[in-house]
Amino acid sequence: MSDSTSSRLRVVQGDITKLAATAIVNAANSSLLGGGGVDGAIHRAGGPAILDECRQIRARQGGCKTGEAVITTGGRLPAQYVIHTVGPVWNGGSKGEPELLAACYRNSLALALERRLESVAFSSISTGVYGYPKADAAAIAVREVRQWLATHEWPQEVVFVVFDEENNRLYEQALAG
Ligand code: ADP
Repeated sequence: MSDSTSSRLRVVQGDITKLAATAIVNAANSSLLGGGGVDGAIHRAGGPAILDECRQIRARQGGCKTGEAVITTGGRLPAQYVIHTVGPVWNGGSKGEPELLAACYRNSLALALERRLESVAFSSISTGVYGYPKADAAAIAVREVRQWLATHEWPQEVVFVVFDEENNRLYEQALAG
């Protein structure tokens, strides 16, 4: 990784709903109607404007498929936008999970590029209720974002927001490798 790429990438531990990034990335489900975990926290903190827009997207295109991403307002969040991406449910690893998780990162970054978003903060997609092994998920997240930053000017900065100590350590390791 070049120095210019590493300076555009960092890890912070904490609550993603507090982050003043241009966009935060939600680990949504394909209904786009909200759920638990980080999804619930984002809708609670951001207020009803986010769900309103999710419903409009759902009416237009029938939700969001696994691996894909859509963008809405950030409502009352410090972030301007929420990118909702649907991670794969871990099902042993031979059901296309790695490629689908990689697609979540690439498709979220593609929205950021399209809209020239300055900074994007990712939650650790699929590593909660969806059960993706955390070390593997961290390695995919870091690989995809690094590759993207090495070849694209936007977003200018990416933050990995880790909630727990274990993910913090795993991302630090993946970034050091
Ligand atoms: P998924 O269904 O994709 O597994 P979850 O919301 O269950 O999504 O978990 C995704 C990750 O988000 C987990 O690593 C979880 O610890 C983390 N998480 C939960 N709440 C927050 C929050 N407020 N800010 C940042 N990360 C969070």
